Amino acid sequence: MSTRYFLVKATQRVLNFVKYFTSGVTQYEPEVYAFTLGQHQVRLWVLESDFFWHDPQIIVERMRISEGEPTSLLVLCKLPNLMAYEISQSLENARKWYGMDLRVEVYGLNYLDAHLEQTLERILMSILIKHLEQVVVGNPLLREEVCRYPCPNCFSRVRYYVAQQPRPTYLYGGVVRDYFILCPTCGLKIHGIETVVTR
Ligand SMILES: [Zn+2]
Repeated sequence: MSTRYFLVKATQRVLNFVKYFTSGVTQYEPEVYAFTLGQHQVRLWVLESDFFWHDPQIIVERMRISEGEPTSLLVLCKLPNLMAYEISQSLENARKWYGMDLRVEVYGLNYLDAHLEQTLERILMSILIKHLEQVVVGNPLLREEVCRYPCPNCFSRVRYYVAQQPRPTYLYGGVVRDYFILCPTCGLKIHGIETVVTR
């Protein structure tokens, strides 16, 4: 079995899982995919070798990353920690060399990871909570409902969003429905899951 085979399989597994969180994935290049979590931009970069475009301008151009726009970059490769570090460094150089205002967070995924979905789910959960305001606004996969309880922190009225569709979870096992709570007054952010009973 070749590297290519495992990489293609792992890419399919990643795309299969992210479909529960986005309304669509676009392929920009053979190795670059894009999707959004609500309004939050995400890129998936599939790296077959350890070589990549070290010039940050090329990375930004080919990933179609916009300056000033918070973007999460998932890198699927063999050495995720090293690559995430190197790519972050390269993007940091974009600021120093070209004065670019990049707001990119890089996350590595190992394509040989037997628990790829679990690792990915953990990463997605952290992106969702970090960029919750961007995720919930005008997101067709969520519906806003009235929350019966006030903010546990400041007792103000909160915004409450529930996923339209349940999804599988690899972290907890079974099927769950995501919900999000956002307090516009104190900034409290909560992401929770409810178990969905299936027969
Ligand atoms: Zn509050």
